[in-house]
Amino acid sequence: TSYTPDPLRYDGRMPYRRCGQSGLKLPALSLGFWHNFGDVDDQSEARAIMHRAFDLGITHFDFANNYGPPPGSAERNCGQILTRDFTKYRDELIISSKAGYLMWDGPYGEWGSRKNLLASLDQSLDRLQLDYVDIFYSHRPDPETPLEETMGALATAIQQGKALYVGISNYPAEMAAKAIDILAEMGVRCLIHQPRYNLFDRWIEGGLTDVLTEKGVGCIPFSPLAQGMLTSRYLDGIPKDSRAAKEHGFLQQDMVEEKIDAIQALNRIAQQRGQSLAHMALAWILNHPAVTSALIGASSVKQLEENVRCLEQLNFSDEELKAIDAACIL
Ligand code: NDP
Repeated sequence: TSYTPDPLRYDGRMPYRRCGQSGLKLPALSLGFWHNFGDVDDQSEARAIMHRAFDLGITHFDFANNYGPPPGSAERNCGQILTRDFTKYRDELIISSKAGYLMWDGPYGEWGSRKNLLASLDQSLDRLQLDYVDIFYSHRPDPETPLEETMGALATAIQQGKALYVGISNYPAEMAAKAIDILAEMGVRCLIHQPRYNLFDRWIEGGLTDVLTEKGVGCIPFSPLAQGMLTSRYLDGIPKDSRAAKEHGFLQQDMVEEKIDAIQALNRIAQQRGQSLAHMALAWILNHPAVTSALIGASSVKQLEENVRCLEQLNFSDEELKAIDAACIL
């Protein structure tokens, strides 16, 4: 079967928000490919999720070299789908990839060397069947490689025409500030920072968001639903098909058990707001003035559709915010 996108996909339901002080706008919700698109996953559901996302106005798909499992399989599987269904729509899509985590054996398969980043980008382009990515990231800071070298590799990716923009992920505030300045000295704007951020993990409020705002860099938080903990997924235990139950999932059962009281309390607040917990968690993220887009995951079309409805109720009263803060530390 062939895919024809919804002609109403830009009818105004999905807001597009400027990424820092750049010329690029991103959808309020972006779709991540860390889980759910590897060889271990259902390929027809994967394809359906990509279609539905694009139909809903989600123009940004986020990859990394190592997404799977096995590593590389998310890019390879989705590269086939991109070629088959999205070739005509390439100019409507922002596709990102990253390098920095372990990808191949030997001394060059991870971290922040020029060797790793540029070889990995070529591999990602091969798997994705693309000539360029829109955003290429340094996936994590490397304490041993000079920052000039890692940022130089990002600048080269742009000069080679293999990336339109570059970003950094998981960099702490001070190192992010330096990286942004080094890029600027090379005439390259750091477009975006991709940190973990959600109701349970607020580290970026301790300096990073100030740096990004001051320097005009966008912010796209990953795991905004704390890998599913901030949804109705675990309210009645740990379902067999959930990330926490899966062998290859990065969410551990004890992480869920530790948070269950907070999850239940947050769910009650969401209900009082007439929202699901997932809606409230995403609305809360999108309310932070430094945040450009929330980078969600979805293992089904149904989850994706539910999450997009968070856009219907984004505002919070001061009392609600206080109650949420109290519930998070239960
Ligand atoms: P989320 O916090 O959004 O978690 C997504 C998972 O939560 C889904 O796969 C699903 O898990 C569950 N879920 C989502 N919506 C619902 C719903 N409505 N009801 C019930 N369960 C739901 O994000 P991720 O942790 O997946 O991260 C998102 C993206 O961020 C990644 O794909 C990746 O692109 C990026 N990322 C980047 C990192 C980095 O270092 N730069 C690190 C991690 C992620 P299930 O159904 O399987 O239980």
